[in-house]
Amino acid sequence: MSQALDTTARVVVIGGGVTGCSILYHLAKAGWQDVVLLERDELTSGSSWHAAGSLFTLTSPFNASCLQKYALERYATLGEEADHDCGFHKTGELWLCLSDEEVESCKVIRSQGLRNGIDAEFVSIEEAVRMAPILNPDGLKAVLFEPDAGHCDPAGVTHAFAKAARKHGATVHRFTPVTDTRLLDNGEWEVVTPKGTIRAEYVVNAAGLWAREVAALAGISMPLMPVEHHYMVTEAIPEIEALRERMPEISFSEANVYARQEGNGMLLGAYEGHCTHWAESGTPLDFGHELLPNDLERMEANLAQAIERMPCLGEAGIKRIINGPMIFSPDLGPLLGPHPALRNYFCATGVMTGFNQGPGIGKVLAEWIIDGEPSLDVSFWDVARFGDYADVDYTKARTKFWYENRSARVYPYQDYDAGRPVRNTALYDELAKKGAVFAEYDGWEDPVYFARNEAEKTPEYAFSRTNWFEVVGEECRAVRDAVGLFEFSTFAKYAISGPDAEDWLAATFANRVPAKTGKMALMPMLSPHGRVIGDFTLTRLGDGDFLLVGGGAMQRIHMRWFLDHVDGRDVNICNISDDYAGLHVAGPAARSVLAKVTSADVSNASQPFLSGQRLELDGDVQAIALRVSFTGELGYELYFPSADARAVYGSLRTAGEAFGLRPIGSHALMSLRLEKGYPSWGFDITSDYYPAECGLERFVSMDKGEFIGREALTTLHGPRERIASFEIDAGSADAYTGEPIYCNGALAGYVSSGGYGYRVDKSLALGYVTPALHDAGNAFEIEIVGERRAARLLDAVPYDPAGARAKA
Ligand SMILES: Cc1cc2nc3c(=O)[nH]c(=O)nc-3n(C[C@H](O)[C@H](O)[C@H](O)COP(=O)(O)OP(=O)(O)OC[C@H]3O[C@@H](n4cnc5c(N)ncnc54)[C@H](O)[C@@H]3O)c2cc1C
Repeated sequence: MSQALDTTARVVVIGGGVTGCSILYHLAKAGWQDVVLLERDELTSGSSWHAAGSLFTLTSPFNASCLQKYALERYATLGEEADHDCGFHKTGELWLCLSDEEVESCKVIRSQGLRNGIDAEFVSIEEAVRMAPILNPDGLKAVLFEPDAGHCDPAGVTHAFAKAARKHGATVHRFTPVTDTRLLDNGEWEVVTPKGTIRAEYVVNAAGLWAREVAALAGISMPLMPVEHHYMVTEAIPEIEALRERMPEISFSEANVYARQEGNGMLLGAYEGHCTHWAESGTPLDFGHELLPNDLERMEANLAQAIERMPCLGEAGIKRIINGPMIFSPDLGPLLGPHPALRNYFCATGVMTGFNQGPGIGKVLAEWIIDGEPSLDVSFWDVARFGDYADVDYTKARTKFWYENRSARVYPYQDYDAGRPVRNTALYDELAKKGAVFAEYDGWEDPVYFARNEAEKTPEYAFSRTNWFEVVGEECRAVRDAVGLFEFSTFAKYAISGPDAEDWLAATFANRVPAKTGKMALMPMLSPHGRVIGDFTLTRLGDGDFLLVGGGAMQRIHMRWFLDHVDGRDVNICNISDDYAGLHVAGPAARSVLAKVTSADVSNASQPFLSGQRLELDGDVQAIALRVSFTGELGYELYFPSADARAVYGSLRTAGEAFGLRPIGSHALMSLRLEKGYPSWGFDITSDYYPAECGLERFVSMDKGEFIGREALTTLHGPRERIASFEIDAGSADAYTGEPIYCNGALAGYVSSGGYGYRVDKSLALGYVTPALHDAGNAFEIEIVGERRAARLLDAVPYDPAGARAKA
């Protein structure tokens, strides 16, 4: 007899695939027993039942790798905990390299894994063939062995999570489709099913292939698109039958193919060269334990390469072919966390590799619901990272691209054309005329450098310096010697006003709110646990009138946080990012250029470093000028209505001609700030760090009164690691991110961001080491593309340590 439906629950999880069952398990295990999972059919009725179950840990970003490693740790004990077999085998994985570029890529991947304790090593070709006798060694350049990889039984894992969740007190209702979700006036949710209605504090959308349909029940949409995906399982293969131990998984990126042992045969999956979308306008509600018609022709090219590498596949009979749908987001990452438009509506959708990510997603989502924040930074998977620009066309173009390039190498600063342009700033045409090469940033076309000739118009990507190295150097030197003009329109801008504005700012940010009109402060924002969740400049423009400026791509995540922490105050928090354009003029001649387009006094006496004023540009354009620069030079950030952008840009360019003004892109900005040791959000600062670790402690005013995170900071026992600037004896490749740092030969830390510093002519990095090793007297090495390079920890930042140029 089926169990009667609960009438109330603390959390209702919608969807009984691996993601939903893992979330339920982690909530219940953490002690929240009043949690219910509703599944419209049998458990595993979406993508989960037909997955291949391949597992690996070497991936990026680092925290994704941590969560995938957590999956393998979980599977090692889940079967016993649930008393349900997960079919888990830890076999390791062989990463095949047929080209020098792939070898380089594997070297980078390998060294990034070290930070996560993944001891992947290159093995000889003979050793690889010993481990996987089906491999044809001809043409193989190298093979990387990842020891932590393996595979699981997808249905076994999903049922095991559900069973273990029940043991911890959770409830699972199968054959209970959710037909509506309604937010009530009192903030509770009503979750409607044919069997009754549950009132819940939180709703979690983990509806996998139907995430879009379940989202629509709550009036929201999600940038998701299902794609078809094939794998096949062969009949028994003599070479496999003869094996004494289970063969490692095989990752063959250059053929977009993965393979593993399945019984005495092989399972071979392929990301075909032509992506086929499925159910574009909506997943049918009656779709269940079905498969899609096979189309082996699509797999032909992958298959041919796979057979050349594993000839026995050509002889083997095919036992079954699976063509199943899975759902992708535009960047392949899941959409996680509280939806910014709905209170207590959590998302765990777009999970494209659920057996690798599902356990970790369950962990962080449970933490997020219970604690208000996940225990590690997952902003790169936050549902709020995509704005409205991620429409159906964009989502289709991006998901197609990622399907077809699932295993492609990812180079530093790499950008992709698919689906672009989606958003052009008002200056796009002007900048394009000047040779701007654009990359996508938060949907915007963002100029990364200005090509000087045809050859530079197409950016090359590699692990070493490429065709834009020289031009970016020229841009940096122009900022040092004359003046540069950057577009800053993609920065997030918030107008904060109202009677309680100051009180809200004081409570929400860690630094003191500037007391006098015109003063500016750097403002870290902390979570209740004291971790850094934002990094802003705040300028007081008048009584109860402030401008807050921060990272553009974080704006929806930050707005969600701001609005969640108003606590009844009378404050207006207005995101004006799209309405206001930004330009930044920086370099020794910046003041002279600015003085030509405004009648306001922009002298050092009137507008010193770290101050702001309202002024008129170009006659009557109402603007705000902030005296601050991420370049380390004299500089002004200028914000004004987007409608005036072309006029202001034109005037600044005309005014700048006599001073050698040059348009500058964001690659140069990243280099200039590195020379100043300024940490960059997403690379050097994330919510994984406390202020004392990432160099922000001097912007935290512990004596100013209460603010979010203050109490937690008082309980910390010193930094776990500390950021430092490094100078590296690099060759033709610079550090980028994730490179290991060694001290006296032992692993000591990792690079958070790196590149070339053209003003100081040195290869540089920012990186983290433990406080004990944070000493310029130590001998360091940094591993770049597999080669250890001598490095020095710098006592002072490489460029203008006294800050005289910025304050000039
Ligand atoms: C051919 C193939 C091979 C794959 N191989 C791998 C692999 O090797 N490794 C890996 O990690 N991943 C693999 N994947 C991906 C993996 O299958 C998915 O990432 C994973 O299954 C997603 O799980 P989920 O729980 O998020 O969604 P789903 O499995 O789609 O589950 C969603 C559940 O929600 C339920 N639901 C929907 N609407 C409602 C409603 N209104 N009310 C109640 N319940 C509802 C559905 O019935 C379903 O059971 C593969 C996918 C395919 C197609």
